[in-house]
Amino acid sequence: MSEPLLFELSSPGRTGVALPELDVPEQPIDNLIPASLQREQEPDLPELSEPEVVRHFVRLSALNYHVDKGMYPLGSCTMKYNPKVNEDAARLPGFANLHPLQPQGTVQGALRLMVELGQYLCEIAGLAGITLQPAAGAHGELTGVLMIRAYHDAQGRRRQKVLIPDSAHGTNPASVTIAGYQAVQVRSNEHGRIDLDDLRQKVDDEVAALMVTNPNTLGIFEVEIDEAKRILDDVGALLYMDGANLNALLGIVRPGDLGFDVVHFNLHKTFSTPHGGGGPGSGPVGVSERLLPFLPKPKVVEKEGSFALEWDVPQSIGKVDAFWGHFLVMVKAYTYIRMLGPDGLRKVSEAAVINSNYLLSRLQDAYEQPYRERPMHEFVLSGDRQTKYGVRTLDIAKRLLDYGFHAPTIYFPLIVHEAMMIEPTESESVETLDQFAEAMLAIAKEAEENPELLRNAPQTTPVSRLDEARAARDLNVRYRKT
Ligand SMILES: *Cc1c(COP(=O)(O)O)cnc(C)c1O
Repeated sequence: MSEPLLFELSSPGRTGVALPELDVPEQPIDNLIPASLQREQEPDLPELSEPEVVRHFVRLSALNYHVDKGMYPLGSCTMKYNPKVNEDAARLPGFANLHPLQPQGTVQGALRLMVELGQYLCEIAGLAGITLQPAAGAHGELTGVLMIRAYHDAQGRRRQKVLIPDSAHGTNPASVTIAGYQAVQVRSNEHGRIDLDDLRQKVDDEVAALMVTNPNTLGIFEVEIDEAKRILDDVGALLYMDGANLNALLGIVRPGDLGFDVVHFNLHKTFSTPHGGGGPGSGPVGVSERLLPFLPKPKVVEKEGSFALEWDVPQSIGKVDAFWGHFLVMVKAYTYIRMLGPDGLRKVSEAAVINSNYLLSRLQDAYEQPYRERPMHEFVLSGDRQTKYGVRTLDIAKRLLDYGFHAPTIYFPLIVHEAMMIEPTESESVETLDQFAEAMLAIAKEAEENPELLRNAPQTTPVSRLDEARAARDLNVRYRKT
């Protein structure tokens, strides 16, 4: 990989802008900035022309894999295409140039957008109220569990435990632990669903809630939620839904109608705002009637035809993020919802489920499918059959890069050996799904005939196998001029 840093491309005196002659009297700098705040040396910034900067970033973008380049079947992440109109809306000066502390009279449109987005999400999930503050899904989980805690506190007893199925995303037990609860695992049964017998065994009056992902991380719909709900109701515990997989349910199933008290949304997954590159997310949390008093504050409310931030919420768990949340992500999600409307959103989920089932039907003879239930918007295969050739799921994932595809999520969920979790999303055409299937089938054949090829993959990418553990633990992110 040979793209130099902007600092290395820099040439003293080169510039991308030409400022006009000064046409006002020049002020001594000391009149503008106190001497104590002035820097002593010029900042060491790269100096380049505009085309050099543009080409640098275009070259970098071509080295990388991204959702604008090709299919990104990363399970549980919903890497759908992000319509560019979302960006146009977020870049409107009336949104992009807002200051969060502007007087409310000057930001009525922004507040209205937040109120309406909240109403749409409540309608989609069948819930009574919502906060848009949390910065991402995991933060939404923490917010939701803190509301559950506040609810039990208000009943006079905190309780100790939150139950979580063994197929859950790692953020679930982490959020529960940070909120001061003990995370207790519930087993999955042979169908990949919550084992209700195990649930019955583990439920007692110390349980604050059950936290379920639906469809779960195997892509399988939890059909026995009403029975789970009865078991929890008997001990006064609540039901939390991790809504990361909502892309399977839009316009078809409303979690509130199933009896969930809390649902978090990942706007950056289901509602098509870019993610995965460290950009901002947004994790709104919707709640049922009985949790309304505990929503974070300020609440964004409509009162007598105008919009306002409401701070007087006595039982609120308080503020959970800087200012009011990631506003421009909300603008993108709002645009997406308004663009599609109720029928469009339903078609999103229908197409996501059809795409996933089509792809599964093309792959299920070549790879093991540990849970044979019909999946929804994603499915989980195992690379177990290929291990007898000395090939692991990691090798299969790396080889996919040589075929021009991003790898699926691998080694998750933890209950599947050599897991490959594939989520095509609704944005892919049948031709693209076929190309991906052909690549996966070719790789299954290569595993038998030439396993070495897989173990040395990828060959065609700018860099081959990286030491991923070292990359995460031994960070070197500072450039020092030599
Ligand atoms: C992505 C995901 C989360 C966490 O959401 P973030 O927005 O990444 O914090 C939680 N649960 C599941 C099932 C997920 O897929």
